[in-house]
Amino acid sequence: MSKNLMINLSFIFANLALLSLLIWPYGLAALEAPAPAAEPLPRRDTVPVFIDYVLTAPAGPEGGAMRKRREPPPARVFRKLPTAEKVVALTFDDGPKGTLEKLLAILADKGVPATFFLLGSNALNKPGLVQAIAAAGCEVANHSWAHPKMKGLPAEKVYWQIEACAAAFKAMGVEALPYLRPPYGSWDKGVQEACTRLGYEIVLWDVDTRDWEDSNPTRVLDRALKGLKPGSIILFHDGPAVTLKVLPQFIDEAVAQGYRFVLLSEYIPEG
Ligand SMILES: [Zn+2]
Repeated sequence: MSKNLMINLSFIFANLALLSLLIWPYGLAALEAPAPAAEPLPRRDTVPVFIDYVLTAPAGPEGGAMRKRREPPPARVFRKLPTAEKVVALTFDDGPKGTLEKLLAILADKGVPATFFLLGSNALNKPGLVQAIAAAGCEVANHSWAHPKMKGLPAEKVYWQIEACAAAFKAMGVEALPYLRPPYGSWDKGVQEACTRLGYEIVLWDVDTRDWEDSNPTRVLDRALKGLKPGSIILFHDGPAVTLKVLPQFIDEAVAQGYRFVLLSEYIPEG
């Protein structure tokens, strides 16, 4: 082998080695899994400012702003208030909807408070109604962004649903309770884990009026009164016409039986 050929070969090998060093990081990057697609966001074009806020504010399971450094105790699950006192709590799910102002008027007329588990997607469209709830001395809490069945939902979607709803409240300056009512009462360990990390309690109910599916006032009232006991949490909805019909009579009957209406936060001890 001639000296010139040796020099040429070593020159080629040196260049190949240099080239492989240069492309090495790109080769690694190509092997990495692609970033997961972002959660599709229901558009609400009437409120672009709020939507932008929701898009930027939430943090997921890894970067949650409220994530605590030490392992926190698991989120508690309440089906009733932990008390033997003759008190009950009214709750209304799925709002704010068209019947909200009428509900608030009935509550004001009877001098009774309630807690409203709102959907972030509904709240964004009606910020005035959300503020009216707080102004009426009632409480606002989290019913997710868009009402999915949370049991079995991937963790990042559970976090997103809770935090997007919370971001909507924050954007409109409304203070919400750290309570999650999972839609349909559907939850599992994953939902509880998300609540633990985000500092939420899970609040369910023990008296289900089924006012969303039964328009018969007698039956709905009967269901509301039948299961009533000290500490009961009653589930109604914002929306059905039957609820407006039944509510005044239900409050009167419960008061006649010696019950006092209270807010959830008065009887759920801070964790
Ligand atoms: Zn609901």
